[in-house]
Amino acid sequence: MNEKKIIELKGVSKTFDDEIILDNIDLKVYEKEFMTLLGPSGCGKTTTLRIIAGFVTPDNGEVLFDDVKINDVPPHKRHVNTVFQKYALFPHLNVYENIAFALRLKQKKEKLSEEEIYERVEEMLTMVNLRGFEKKDVNLLSGGQQQRVAIARALINKPRVLLLDEPLGALDLKLRKDMQNELKNIQRRTGITFIYVTHDQEEALSMSDTVVVMANGKIQQIGSPTDIYNEPENAFVADFIGESNIIDGVMLDDFKVRFSGHEFECLDKGFGKNEPVDVVVRPEDVDVVPVDKGMLCGVVDSVTFKGVHYEIIVTINKFKWMIQSTDYVAPSQKIGIYVEPDAIHIMKKSEFSGMFGDYSSFSDELEHLSDVTEEEE
Ligand code: ATP
Repeated sequence: MNEKKIIELKGVSKTFDDEIILDNIDLKVYEKEFMTLLGPSGCGKTTTLRIIAGFVTPDNGEVLFDDVKINDVPPHKRHVNTVFQKYALFPHLNVYENIAFALRLKQKKEKLSEEEIYERVEEMLTMVNLRGFEKKDVNLLSGGQQQRVAIARALINKPRVLLLDEPLGALDLKLRKDMQNELKNIQRRTGITFIYVTHDQEEALSMSDTVVVMANGKIQQIGSPTDIYNEPENAFVADFIGESNIIDGVMLDDFKVRFSGHEFECLDKGFGKNEPVDVVVRPEDVDVVPVDKGMLCGVVDSVTFKGVHYEIIVTINKFKWMIQSTDYVAPSQKIGIYVEPDAIHIMKKSEFSGMFGDYSSFSDELEHLSDVTEEEE
């Protein structure tokens, strides 16, 4: 990935049937970048991709390619190609002719010889591991093989940007994992910018240089996979990317937060005094300790074996904590939990606050504060 911008969306909005689908989207995509648009169904990922491809015109805002506005440039004149979940191969053409298709369209105009076409098709077949499949009927290929043909076909005319809309969505898990690696390798080898759409967070984290998390037609966060996972900007991102305990809290002061009826040290600052916040703690960051060593204590509701760890649910102060631990505890056992300051992530309240988990109420925390204030007075 380098720092040269290739695509930019500036204040892009789109409404369908009076519903705002994209709300003032700003996005920069760089050359050689593998960018993934990630979010739940209906959040506007495909619409964003279609605006970049030129199939949908935004109501407001600009689409720039190499800093030039392309809002009115038709799809076939943009330097982008798209791979869809449904492979959309030509059923009457064999593998070779499906891949050669884009070259055939300009064969006359650009005076491409059969040898040149052959070399380019063979290069593509090697890239997607389908040498020897030239004459095969595409209808008889497996889903994974058909998708390889679709990728080869989209790359043969060397687009500057490849748009991929849930391209692996129809494949089974094992094949999807294999194809994820292959796609990532193809992207690295060709240096083509990929903009990839998925609702699968694991897929986004494992393949991308940059992840764009979307919800309700807005971008919630843009960052590297580790940033997005370790430093989610709001409760939505924290919940959507991996599992999270999201608890109502009150920031008492810099580096001091109160939740679940206790005061905790944390690494966050710059919030207002007594500002209500969302406190996010990942299940794998909660340590199970003996009751007398716990910062909080509770009784285990349930324990489920998940292969690499146990998933333990403990109710503390009306909130059901999820803990992932390799140590077994028994249901109904009383346990203590311990959380390091760097495992406590503080987030400003957002439109998503209160949507996740089983909340202890703010009023509990605020009641406590008023008790303290009264005592002090
Ligand atoms: P999914 O993962 O389900 O494809 P998405 O995030 O890609 O979701 P979009 O396909 O961008 O979401 O759709 C966002 C919303 O816009 C949906 O509610 C969809 O019904 C609506 N929508 C998309 N295209 C049109 C259209 N041409 N006319 C009317 N509504 C549309």
